[in-house]
Amino acid sequence: MRGYINIPASINCKACKYCGARPIISLAEKGEYIIKCPNNDTHYQTIPGLIDIEDWNLHNVPAVTIGFDHVTTIAC
Ligand SMILES: [Zn+2]
Repeated sequence: MRGYINIPASINCKACKYCGARPIISLAEKGEYIIKCPNNDTHYQTIPGLIDIEDWNLHNVPAVTIGFDHVTTIAC
């Protein structure tokens, strides 16, 4: 354990969109926190600060869920 905190199962957080791993909370400098993929540092990680699971979730939404409902192109 090097300052890693497992996220409790009761917290609703998405898996890493690249490899499907459940994220961990890593302690950064100055007592700040990063939510990151436990497998690879190049996968998405939040900027150091407060524990921001919302930001993690926003960046790990699988692209396949994007449909055509929000197309705003207007034909003329
Ligand atoms: Zn990953």
